[in-house]
Amino acid sequence: AAKAAGKAAWARFEPRMRHEVVNHARLGSELHNAIIRHELFLMYQPVFDLDTGRMSGAEALVRWQHPARGLVSPADFVPVAERSGLIVPLGSWVLREACEQLARWQAEYGPAAIRSVNVNVAARQLREPGFVDEVAAVLSDTRLGPMNLVLEVTESSVVDGRQVRDTLEALHELGVRLALDDFGTGQSSLSLLRAFPVDVLKLDKSFVDGICDGEDRGRLAVAAAVAQLAEYLDLYAVAEGIETAAQLDRLRRMGYRLGQGYYMAKPLPPAEMAVLMQRTATAVAA
Ligand code: C2E
Ligand code: MG
Ligand code: MG
Ligand code: MG
Repeated sequence: AAKAAGKAAWARFEPRMRHEVVNHARLGSELHNAIIRHELFLMYQPVFDLDTGRMSGAEALVRWQHPARGLVSPADFVPVAERSGLIVPLGSWVLREACEQLARWQAEYGPAAIRSVNVNVAARQLREPGFVDEVAAVLSDTRLGPMNLVLEVTESSVVDGRQVRDTLEALHELGVRLALDDFGTGQSSLSLLRAFPVDVLKLDKSFVDGICDGEDRGRLAVAAAVAQLAEYLDLYAVAEGIETAAQLDRLRRMGYRLGQGYYMAKPLPPAEMAVLMQRTATAVAA
Protein backbone atom coordinates (compact mmCIF):
# COMPACT_ATOMS: atom_id res chain seq x y z
CA ALA A 1 0.00 0.00 0.00
CA ALA A 2 2.89 2.29 0.84
CA LYS A 3 4.31 1.69 -2.57
CA ALA A 4 0.98 2.47 -4.19
CA ALA A 5 0.77 5.69 -2.19
CA GLY A 6 4.23 6.65 -3.34
CA LYS A 7 3.29 6.05 -6.94
CA ALA A 8 0.01 7.94 -6.62
CA ALA A 9 2.04 10.83 -5.34
CA TRP A 10 3.21 11.36 -8.89
CA ALA A 11 2.85 15.08 -9.30
CA ARG A 12 -0.03 16.39 -11.28
CA PHE A 13 1.37 19.83 -10.98
CA GLU A 14 4.74 20.83 -12.33
CA PRO A 15 4.56 24.16 -14.09
CA ARG A 16 6.85 24.31 -17.03
CA MET A 17 9.98 26.27 -16.31
CA ARG A 18 11.58 28.61 -18.73
CA HIS A 19 15.07 27.58 -19.59
CA GLU A 20 16.59 30.12 -21.89
CA VAL A 21 19.69 31.93 -22.91
CA VAL A 22 19.41 34.84 -20.55
CA ASN A 23 21.11 38.16 -20.20
CA HIS A 24 22.81 37.51 -16.88
CA ALA A 25 23.44 41.13 -15.98
CA ARG A 26 19.79 41.94 -16.40
CA LEU A 27 18.67 38.81 -14.60
CA GLY A 28 20.92 39.78 -11.72
CA SER A 29 19.33 43.18 -11.20
CA GLU A 30 15.85 41.69 -11.59
CA LEU A 31 16.70 39.05 -9.01
CA HIS A 32 17.53 41.75 -6.52
CA ASN A 33 13.95 43.00 -6.87
CA ALA A 34 12.58 39.47 -6.83
CA ILE A 35 13.66 39.00 -3.24
CA ILE A 36 12.04 42.30 -2.22
CA ARG A 37 8.87 41.61 -4.20
CA HIS A 38 8.43 38.06 -2.91
CA GLU A 39 8.61 36.47 -6.33
CA LEU A 40 10.54 33.49 -4.98
CA PHE A 41 8.86 30.39 -3.63
CA LEU A 42 9.79 26.84 -2.72
CA MET A 43 8.77 23.50 -4.10
CA TYR A 44 9.53 20.29 -2.20
CA GLN A 45 10.66 17.02 -3.69
CA PRO A 46 10.04 14.06 -1.38
CA VAL A 47 12.89 11.75 -0.44
CA PHE A 48 11.55 8.22 -0.06
CA ASP A 49 12.62 5.34 2.09
CA LEU A 50 12.94 2.75 -0.68
CA ASP A 51 12.32 -0.19 1.66
CA THR A 52 9.00 1.01 3.07
CA GLY A 53 7.89 3.38 0.31
CA ARG A 54 7.34 6.08 2.91
CA MET A 55 8.44 9.66 2.59
CA SER A 56 11.32 10.35 4.95
CA GLY A 57 11.98 13.96 4.06
CA ALA A 58 11.91 16.50 1.26
CA GLU A 59 14.35 18.72 -0.58
CA ALA A 60 13.48 22.41 -0.82
CA LEU A 61 13.99 23.69 -4.37
CA VAL A 62 13.71 27.40 -5.08
CA ARG A 63 11.59 28.80 -7.91
CA TRP A 64 11.24 32.29 -9.30
CA GLN A 65 7.91 33.44 -10.61
CA HIS A 66 9.06 36.28 -12.82
CA PRO A 67 6.33 38.80 -13.72
CA ALA A 68 7.25 38.81 -17.42
CA ARG A 69 9.43 35.73 -18.00
CA GLY A 70 7.21 33.28 -16.16
CA LEU A 71 8.74 30.54 -14.07
CA VAL A 72 12.54 30.75 -14.18
CA SER A 73 14.66 27.68 -13.45
CA PRO A 74 17.18 27.76 -10.57
CA ALA A 75 19.69 26.35 -13.05
CA ASP A 76 19.51 29.80 -14.66
CA PHE A 77 19.33 32.15 -11.69
CA VAL A 78 21.23 30.37 -8.90
CA PRO A 79 24.58 30.68 -10.75
CA VAL A 80 23.80 34.37 -11.38
CA ALA A 81 22.99 34.83 -7.70
CA GLU A 82 26.23 33.09 -6.72
CA ARG A 83 28.33 35.42 -8.84
CA SER A 84 26.68 38.59 -7.55
CA GLY A 85 26.58 37.51 -3.91
CA LEU A 86 22.77 37.68 -3.90
CA ILE A 87 22.83 33.99 -3.08
CA VAL A 88 23.56 34.97 0.52
CA PRO A 89 20.21 36.74 1.24
CA LEU A 90 18.44 34.36 -1.14
CA GLY A 91 19.90 31.33 0.64
CA SER A 92 19.00 32.78 4.05
CA TRP A 93 15.44 33.15 2.92
CA VAL A 94 15.33 29.55 1.61
CA LEU A 95 16.76 28.16 4.86
CA ARG A 96 14.28 29.96 7.09
CA GLU A 97 11.28 29.34 4.84
CA ALA A 98 12.03 25.61 4.51
CA CYS A 99 12.48 25.18 8.28
CA GLU A 100 9.30 27.11 9.05
CA GLN A 101 7.43 24.95 6.58
CA LEU A 102 8.78 21.73 8.11
CA ALA A 103 7.80 22.92 11.59
CA ARG A 104 4.24 23.66 10.40
CA TRP A 105 3.97 20.25 8.73
CA GLN A 106 5.25 18.43 11.80
CA ALA A 107 2.83 20.33 14.01
CA GLU A 108 -0.06 19.45 11.71
CA TYR A 109 0.69 15.89 10.60
CA GLY A 110 3.04 14.63 13.29
CA PRO A 111 6.82 14.19 13.19
CA ALA A 112 6.56 10.77 11.50
CA ALA A 113 4.87 12.26 8.42
CA ILE A 114 8.07 14.04 7.47
CA ARG A 115 11.29 13.89 9.45
CA SER A 116 13.59 16.30 7.71
CA VAL A 117 14.05 18.97 5.12
CA ASN A 118 17.05 19.24 2.81
CA VAL A 119 18.31 22.71 1.96
CA ASN A 120 20.85 23.40 -0.79
CA VAL A 121 23.68 25.62 0.37
CA ALA A 122 26.00 27.48 -2.00
CA ALA A 123 29.75 27.79 -1.51
CA ARG A 124 29.38 31.50 -0.92
CA GLN A 125 27.05 30.91 2.05
CA LEU A 126 29.53 28.55 3.69
CA ARG A 127 32.13 31.30 3.57
CA GLU A 128 29.90 33.80 5.40
CA PRO A 129 31.32 34.15 8.92
CA GLY A 130 27.86 34.12 10.52
CA PHE A 131 26.51 31.06 8.76
CA VAL A 132 26.70 28.60 11.67
CA ASP A 133 25.01 31.08 14.02
CA GLU A 134 22.33 31.68 11.42
CA VAL A 135 21.56 27.96 11.15
CA ALA A 136 21.45 27.68 14.95
CA ALA A 137 19.11 30.68 15.17
CA VAL A 138 16.72 29.32 12.54
CA LEU A 139 16.55 25.95 14.33
CA SER A 140 15.92 27.62 17.63
CA ASP A 141 13.26 29.99 16.22
CA THR A 142 11.41 27.14 14.52
CA ARG A 143 11.93 24.77 17.47
CA LEU A 144 13.31 22.12 15.17
CA GLY A 145 16.05 19.74 16.22
CA PRO A 146 19.31 19.66 14.26
CA MET A 147 18.44 16.16 13.06
CA ASN A 148 15.52 17.69 11.18
CA LEU A 149 17.84 19.57 8.86
CA VAL A 150 20.07 18.28 6.08
CA LEU A 151 22.33 20.78 4.35
CA GLU A 152 23.32 19.86 0.80
CA VAL A 153 26.69 21.07 -0.42
CA THR A 154 28.64 20.15 -3.53
CA GLU A 155 32.14 18.72 -3.55
CA SER A 156 33.51 21.76 -5.32
CA SER A 157 32.27 24.08 -2.59
CA VAL A 158 33.89 22.12 0.23
CA VAL A 159 37.34 21.70 -1.27
CA ASP A 160 38.29 25.30 -0.75
CA GLY A 161 40.15 25.44 2.43
CA ARG A 162 40.32 25.73 6.12
CA GLN A 163 37.48 28.14 6.78
CA VAL A 164 34.86 26.03 5.03
CA ARG A 165 36.12 22.96 6.85
CA ASP A 166 35.75 24.73 10.21
CA THR A 167 32.22 25.77 9.25
CA LEU A 168 31.26 22.22 8.33
CA GLU A 169 32.78 20.90 11.56
CA ALA A 170 30.77 23.44 13.56
CA LEU A 171 27.56 22.49 11.74
CA HIS A 172 28.30 18.85 12.44
CA GLU A 173 28.88 19.68 16.12
CA LEU A 174 25.49 21.34 16.11
CA GLY A 175 24.04 18.01 14.95
CA VAL A 176 22.95 19.08 11.49
CA ARG A 177 23.50 16.46 8.78
CA LEU A 178 25.64 17.23 5.76
CA ALA A 179 25.01 15.77 2.32
CA LEU A 180 27.38 15.82 -0.64
CA ASP A 181 25.12 16.69 -3.58
CA ASP A 182 25.71 15.58 -7.17
CA PHE A 183 28.20 13.06 -5.81
CA GLY A 184 30.44 11.53 -8.44
CA THR A 185 30.46 14.51 -10.77
CA GLY A 186 33.11 16.61 -9.03
CA GLN A 187 36.58 15.73 -7.89
CA SER A 188 35.10 12.95 -5.76
CA SER A 189 38.33 12.63 -3.94
CA LEU A 190 37.94 9.90 -1.38
CA SER A 191 40.14 11.82 1.02
CA LEU A 192 37.41 14.48 1.05
CA LEU A 193 35.12 12.00 2.78
CA ARG A 194 37.63 11.59 5.57
CA ALA A 195 38.54 15.24 5.88
CA PHE A 196 34.97 16.52 6.12
CA PRO A 197 32.14 15.44 8.42
CA VAL A 198 29.88 14.08 5.68
CA ASP A 199 26.73 12.10 6.57
CA VAL A 200 25.00 11.58 3.23
CA LEU A 201 26.15 10.88 -0.34
CA LYS A 202 23.68 11.89 -3.05
CA LEU A 203 24.51 9.94 -6.19
CA ASP A 204 24.12 12.29 -9.14
CA LYS A 205 21.31 11.70 -11.59
CA SER A 206 23.73 11.20 -14.47
CA PHE A 207 24.80 7.85 -12.96
CA VAL A 208 21.21 6.79 -12.34
CA ASP A 209 20.51 7.52 -16.01
CA GLY A 210 23.25 5.09 -16.98
CA ILE A 211 22.52 2.10 -14.77
CA CYS A 212 20.02 0.37 -17.04
CA ASP A 213 22.00 1.05 -20.17
CA GLY A 214 23.74 -2.27 -20.92
CA GLU A 215 26.45 -0.46 -22.86
CA ASP A 216 27.36 1.85 -20.02
CA ARG A 217 29.36 -0.17 -17.53
CA GLY A 218 31.19 2.93 -16.30
CA ARG A 219 28.23 4.71 -14.80
CA LEU A 220 26.82 1.47 -13.46
CA ALA A 221 30.13 0.86 -11.71
CA VAL A 222 30.09 4.31 -10.10
CA ALA A 223 26.52 3.85 -8.86
CA ALA A 224 27.40 0.49 -7.29
CA ALA A 225 30.67 1.76 -5.82
CA VAL A 226 29.01 4.76 -4.16
CA ALA A 227 26.47 2.47 -2.44
CA GLN A 228 29.30 0.28 -1.16
CA LEU A 229 31.36 3.24 -0.06
CA ALA A 230 28.42 4.58 1.92
CA GLU A 231 27.88 1.25 3.57
CA TYR A 232 31.49 0.85 4.64
CA LEU A 233 31.80 4.43 5.83
CA ASP A 234 28.46 4.26 7.61
CA LEU A 235 26.90 7.04 5.53
CA TYR A 236 23.48 7.30 3.97
CA ALA A 237 23.36 6.91 0.19
CA VAL A 238 20.59 8.66 -1.71
CA ALA A 239 19.99 8.12 -5.42
CA GLU A 240 18.63 11.17 -7.21
CA GLY A 241 16.76 11.48 -10.48
CA ILE A 242 15.07 8.06 -10.50
CA GLU A 243 12.72 8.07 -13.49
CA THR A 244 11.79 4.43 -14.08
CA ALA A 245 10.76 1.32 -12.19
CA ALA A 246 13.77 -0.50 -13.64
CA GLN A 247 16.18 2.10 -12.24
CA LEU A 248 14.48 1.96 -8.85
CA ASP A 249 14.70 -1.81 -8.75
CA ARG A 250 18.35 -1.83 -9.75
CA LEU A 251 19.29 0.84 -7.20
CA ARG A 252 17.54 -1.01 -4.40
CA ARG A 253 19.45 -4.14 -5.23
CA MET A 254 22.68 -2.14 -5.18
CA GLY A 255 21.87 -1.13 -1.61
CA TYR A 256 20.28 2.30 -1.95
CA ARG A 257 17.80 2.75 0.87
CA LEU A 258 16.79 6.31 0.01
CA GLY A 259 15.82 7.86 -3.30
CA GLN A 260 14.36 10.82 -5.07
CA GLY A 261 13.02 11.13 -8.58
CA TYR A 262 10.15 11.84 -10.92
CA TYR A 263 9.19 8.16 -10.84
CA MET A 264 8.10 8.58 -7.21
CA ALA A 265 7.34 12.31 -7.04
CA LYS A 266 8.30 15.52 -8.77
CA PRO A 267 8.96 18.69 -6.79
CA LEU A 268 5.59 19.60 -5.26
CA PRO A 269 4.00 22.81 -4.01
CA PRO A 270 3.30 22.73 -0.24
CA ALA A 271 -0.41 22.01 -0.74
CA GLU A 272 0.40 18.80 -2.63
CA MET A 273 2.91 17.81 0.03
CA ALA A 274 0.12 18.21 2.56
CA VAL A 275 -2.03 15.76 0.58
CA LEU A 276 0.79 13.21 0.71
CA MET A 277 1.25 13.64 4.46
CA GLN A 278 -2.46 13.50 5.16
CA ARG A 279 -2.58 10.18 3.37
CA THR A 280 0.35 8.89 5.44
CA ALA A 281 -1.21 10.10 8.70
CA THR A 282 -4.47 8.30 7.84
CA ALA A 283 -2.65 5.12 6.84
CA VAL A 284 -0.74 5.06 10.13
CA ALA A 285 -3.86 5.74 12.19
CA ALA A 286 -5.82 3.01 10.38
P1 C2E B 1 20.00 19.63 -7.09
O1 C2E B 1 20.14 20.14 -5.72
O2 C2E B 1 20.88 18.51 -7.51
O3 C2E B 1 18.46 19.23 -7.22
C1 C2E B 1 17.99 18.18 -8.01
C2 C2E B 1 17.41 18.67 -9.31
O4 C2E B 1 17.02 17.56 -10.10
C3 C2E B 1 16.14 19.52 -9.14
O5 C2E B 1 16.10 20.46 -10.22
C4 C2E B 1 15.04 18.47 -9.33
O6 C2E B 1 13.80 19.02 -9.72
C5 C2E B 1 15.65 17.63 -10.41
N1 C2E B 1 15.12 16.26 -10.44
C6 C2E B 1 14.77 15.49 -9.39
N2 C2E B 1 14.34 14.27 -9.80
C7 C2E B 1 14.42 14.28 -11.14
C8 C2E B 1 14.12 13.30 -12.16
O7 C2E B 1 13.68 12.18 -11.89
N3 C2E B 1 14.34 13.67 -13.45
C9 C2E B 1 14.83 14.90 -13.80
N4 C2E B 1 15.02 15.18 -15.09
N5 C2E B 1 15.13 15.85 -12.86
C10 C2E B 1 14.93 15.52 -11.56
P2 C2E B 1 15.80 22.01 -9.98
O8 C2E B 1 14.74 22.17 -8.95
O9 C2E B 1 15.62 22.62 -11.32
O10 C2E B 1 17.15 22.54 -9.33
C11 C2E B 1 18.34 22.56 -10.06
C12 C2E B 1 19.52 22.91 -9.19
O11 C2E B 1 19.41 24.26 -8.74
C13 C2E B 1 19.63 22.08 -7.91
O12 C2E B 1 20.19 20.82 -8.19
C14 C2E B 1 20.50 22.97 -7.07
O13 C2E B 1 21.85 22.82 -7.44
C15 C2E B 1 20.03 24.36 -7.48
N6 C2E B 1 19.09 24.86 -6.47
C16 C2E B 1 17.75 24.70 -6.37
N7 C2E B 1 17.26 25.32 -5.28
C17 C2E B 1 18.34 25.89 -4.65
C18 C2E B 1 18.50 26.68 -3.46
O14 C2E B 1 17.56 26.97 -2.71
N8 C2E B 1 19.77 27.10 -3.16
C19 C2E B 1 20.85 26.76 -3.95
N9 C2E B 1 22.06 27.21 -3.60
N10 C2E B 1 20.73 26.03 -5.06
C20 C2E B 1 19.49 25.60 -5.40
MG1 MG C 1 20.27 19.26 -3.92
MG1 MG D 1 21.62 16.91 -6.60
MG1 MG E 1 21.94 17.77 -9.39
